[in-house]
This record gives sequence, structure tokens and C-alpha cells, in this order.
Amino acid sequence: MAKRTYQTPRGTKDVLPDEQKHWDFVVDVVKEEAFNAGFRRIDTPIFEDSGLFVKSVGKNTDIVEKEMYTFKDKSGNSLTLRPEGTAPIIRAYLEGGMQSLPHPVNLFYIGSMFRYERPQAGRYRQFHQYGFETIGESNPVIDAQLIALSLRILRKLGLENLLLEINSLGCPSCRPKYRKLLVDYLSDYKKKLCTDCKQRLKTNPLRIFDCKQKSCQEIIASAPQLINYLCQSCHEHFRHVLEYLDDLELSYELNPRLARGLDYYTKTVWEIWPAKPLEGEELGSQAALGGGGRYDKLIELLGGRPTPALGFACGIERPIAMIKEEKIEIPEKRKTQVFIAQLGEKAQKICFKLLNELQDAGIAVVGSLEKKSIGSQFKEANRLKVPLTILVGQKEAFDGTVILKDMVSGSQEIIPQEKIVKVLLKRLES
Ligand code: AMP
Repeated sequence: MAKRTYQTPRGTKDVLPDEQKHWDFVVDVVKEEAFNAGFRRIDTPIFEDSGLFVKSVGKNTDIVEKEMYTFKDKSGNSLTLRPEGTAPIIRAYLEGGMQSLPHPVNLFYIGSMFRYERPQAGRYRQFHQYGFETIGESNPVIDAQLIALSLRILRKLGLENLLLEINSLGCPSCRPKYRKLLVDYLSDYKKKLCTDCKQRLKTNPLRIFDCKQKSCQEIIASAPQLINYLCQSCHEHFRHVLEYLDDLELSYELNPRLARGLDYYTKTVWEIWPAKPLEGEELGSQAALGGGGRYDKLIELLGGRPTPALGFACGIERPIAMIKEEKIEIPEKRKTQVFIAQLGEKAQKICFKLLNELQDAGIAVVGSLEKKSIGSQFKEANRLKVPLTILVGQKEAFDGTVILKDMVSGSQEIIPQEKIVKVLLKRLES
């Protein structure tokens, strides 16, 4: 019988050791910037009550209609692997009593998300996001502040060639009027719309803006734009956001067709794109690095007191793809400091103990404890680019000494075994 081999499920990928430094880099920068900006970390479960997403993201969205991993557990509860982070954070904010904290409450998260999408370059079914939420502020300065933060993080990752797109989706006082106008306009072209958009016309016409079909795009191009129908308060809010962005000299492009795929957004929405598409990704495919917006009604919708809020989420895989494509050098944070080489049975025993003593002392040390030639052991030390190597041969094992080799200058010295930890700590300090 042929041996069965297994692969990662479609749309998922392993993060192999060589790529871990990219992940550490992104996560470290996110944590650093979160701390600097006064955001506290929150982690929520990977799955939630399915109703949470249906209610918040909206039942007529692509996420809820097509992309959720929903299953019944053995008690018959309908659960969903989280497709996005905001709804769970707001659930946790309400459940965890954070409404009584001084506001704004600034939270951030890092974790995996799941969407049953058609996999392609940069698009996975399990992917990762970091996200920031500011709860309890309606002032447009906070919109600009969060947009600036979302850009700053990407810039700190070395990504400079970015495009910020921004729009306003209005509020419950102006959006319904606009929606009617849009439906009237689109109804004239109903026959030319794709099957999905025909359906969207009935359920969620704003979603037609996200349609990738050329025929629908052409119709949308001349559609009335929400930005021209905002109520006074939304108009003022948006004007201020743009002024604040100007104050920071952040350039942006107004994109009146930017709808974002979720129902809970109100007022400001934005997306950050690579200035040119990433390798393997088509122009206009959903290849944004991140996006966000205001969701002033979501907390109320989920049972809390009316509380304005906003947030953004960025993928991790896509910024990493861009980091690689732009050949951005990642600072090597952790390096092996010492290599231990040995020859002979007695030396092997001594090195085994030494290795553990050094690790106890907090030194990053690896050693070859198996029977290997000195040549291949030094080859390994060179590959690891360690600054120092300890060698214990038969003579040293007998004398109670070790040879300490400086791998940069090539100089060697003999050190008593009992002093080596101290000597190394001093050397590494300098
Ligand atoms: P969204 O909430 O859909 O705007 O997603 C925010 C960011 O998450 C996107 O801009 C992407 O960087 C990332 N993202 C969303 N969906 C996927 C996916 N299926 N695969 C990889 N990254 C994704």
C-alpha cells in the first residue's frame, strides 16, 4: 500500500523556522507601537457564538454569507471561527465590564482569523491580523490619530511605498437616503449586473462597490457617490479628519467607492495599499495591507450603552510579503553567542554539563554533543556566525581546561573549566 502523506489544508500555510524572524519582527513592532500609543493587549477565543458575527458584521455581507467556518459542537451550539477581530473585542469589552473604565479604552490584538475564501497569492483561509480599537471617542482627531498609527506601524516595518485611501460611509441619518438614490440608479442597469450584484441590490446595495466584475465596475463608476450626500454632521466630521491628516502631512486619496465589506462601519473608513501590487497579486484584487473605520453604532447593537468607537486591522502575511519583496533587512535580534565543540568521550561529558551551566547562566549556546569531526563542528559554528567557540579535546578534558576561540580574530586562550562561565559572561557583556 502506498504511504499516505498529508499536506496543510487548502488556504493554510506553515510558518517554517526561516520565516519566523519576519513574524517576530512584525509582532515586536506592533507591540512596541501599541505600548507607545497607550494600547493594551486583549486576546479573545478563536471561536465565538455564530450569532455575534451575523449580528455585527451583517447577514448580507460576503463574510457571513460565504466565508465563515461555522460548525455545531457536540451540544448543538453554533460556533464560528472568528473571521475578524472587532466584534469579539466589543463582546469582550461588554462582557468584561470595560464600560465602567475611564474612556477611551484603547485595545489591541494579534491573532489568527478564518475566512473561507478562494486561496491565491496573499489570500489564505487561515491568516493573521493585528488590530487596534479605540472605544469611547467621537472626535475626528481620533480617526486621524488611528490612521496615523496604522501607517506608522507599516512604516516602522520599513514599508514606505504605501497608499492611503479614505472615504466616509455616513451615518444612519444620511445613509438610508443615499441608499435609496443608489438603488434607483442601479435599478436602471439591473439586467447588466452580475448575479451576485442583482442579489446585493435587494439586500445590501453598498456591497456592489466591492464587486470585481468589469461590467459591474463600469456601472458603479457613474453611480451617485455617498460623499456628496453626507449629512451636515458627517460632512463636518470627514472634513476635520482630512484636515488633521493634512496637519500630519499624510497624503491620502479620496476613494468614494471604498465601502469595506462589513455592515457596522459608519463615517470614516480607510484602507492602506501597497503603492504597486505585490508580486502574484492582480491589480484591484483584495490586496490591501489593512483597513479600518468608525463603528459608532456597534456597541449599542451588541447590547451596550451607545458608545462611539473605531479601529483598524492589518494582515500579517501581506506586510511580510511586501517586506520580502522590497528586500527589507530584518534586524537580527537574537543570535547564538557561543558554540561548544568537543572531541572524545570524557570531553563530551564535560561539554554536556558545561552546555547546561551556560544555558542556566542565560547564555545562548549550542553545542555538538554527538560524535562528529572537529571540522564539521567548526563548520556548524561558522554557519551560526557565533563570536566565540569553546573547544574541549582529550587534553583539555584531562587538564580541566577549555580552549576559548575568538571566531572573529581567530585568537585562542586556555581557561580553567570552573572559570569559563564567568569569563564568557564578561566577554559577552563587552
Ligand atoms: P479586512 O478586515 O477584510 O479589511 O482585512 C484587513 C486586512 O487583513 C487585509 O487588508 C489583509 O491584509 C488581511 N486579510 C484579510 N483577508 C485575508 C486573507 N484571506 N488572507 C490574508 N490576509 C487577509
